[in-house]
Amino acid sequence: MHNAAFRAFGLGHEWRYEAIDVAPSDLPARLREMAGEGLVGANVTIPHKQAALALADDASEVAREIGAANTLTLDGGRIHADNTDGEGLLAALPSDPSGEAALVLGAGGAARAVVWALVSAGARVSIWNRTPARAAQLADELGAVALPGGEPVPAAEWSLVVNATSVGLDAQGGAGSTRPENPQTLNQLPISADSLSDRQTVVDLVYGNDDTELVRAARERGAAVIDGLEVLIRQGAASFRIWTGLEPPIEAMRRAARNPDSTG
Ligand code: NAP
Repeated sequence: MHNAAFRAFGLGHEWRYEAIDVAPSDLPARLREMAGEGLVGANVTIPHKQAALALADDASEVAREIGAANTLTLDGGRIHADNTDGEGLLAALPSDPSGEAALVLGAGGAARAVVWALVSAGARVSIWNRTPARAAQLADELGAVALPGGEPVPAAEWSLVVNATSVGLDAQGGAGSTRPENPQTLNQLPISADSLSDRQTVVDLVYGNDDTELVRAARERGAAVIDGLEVLIRQGAASFRIWTGLEPPIEAMRRAARNPDSTG
């Protein structure tokens, strides 16, 4: 998606985005090397997001408030940390969530960015998590309300529902996967398919080859649905803007992300 964005600006011969595998123990040394190698920036993902923030020389207020970095800018040997996950979520929503009642499922790293973004945008946020103590801590820190665990959650009461757990991720098969067609994963979440309707927006951060059961169920019931790939594209677009100063070509990025084989 980033290489497609560079090509859209005729920068394909000068700029390149590539994946680098780094073990957690190698991250400090590798980041310092990268800062000295003339690289412009990097995205960091699980499990490096907190460590990257701690290793950076300075950080945006957003990254500090979320407590994690997903975007690093390497400038003259210095490392600047940003977080575009929350901005990506807000950009993917069909409308401003100010004043809306939002239900966030999960209390891990992704949920942190989601809750931060929604609270900052003026939504009233409730958090459910499989381990309720984590929901309570996140709610306390970021100004949301924690729901008790272990009970069904009547999702119809919220106009915006965001799955920020990893439920559904294992069912995303790669090439050669033997997973069943349309795997059932909604039973790991506290909401039922029948509590979803066309009065809601449903976001599932999980992305992969197929729609998750939550996305399928929400679509069938007429909800406005945002899948994880759209949120990924939007956080990537925000990173692109930080590194290049250019307005990201969202359509080119979306085409590349949704049809990776077509971009060469
Ligand atoms: P994480 O920090 O490991 O958190 C995982 C969360 O999922 C925790 O709340 C955990 O609950 C919950 N969970 C895991 N298995 C569960 C189960 N069987 N039943 C119920 N809850 C379960 O991971 P993360 O970084 O937050 O990422 C979460 C998901 O978001 C991943 O699928 C990731 O790929 C996706 N993501 C997508 C984007 C995007 O741009 N689309 C960005 C970031 C992340 P406990 O606290 O009880 O363990």
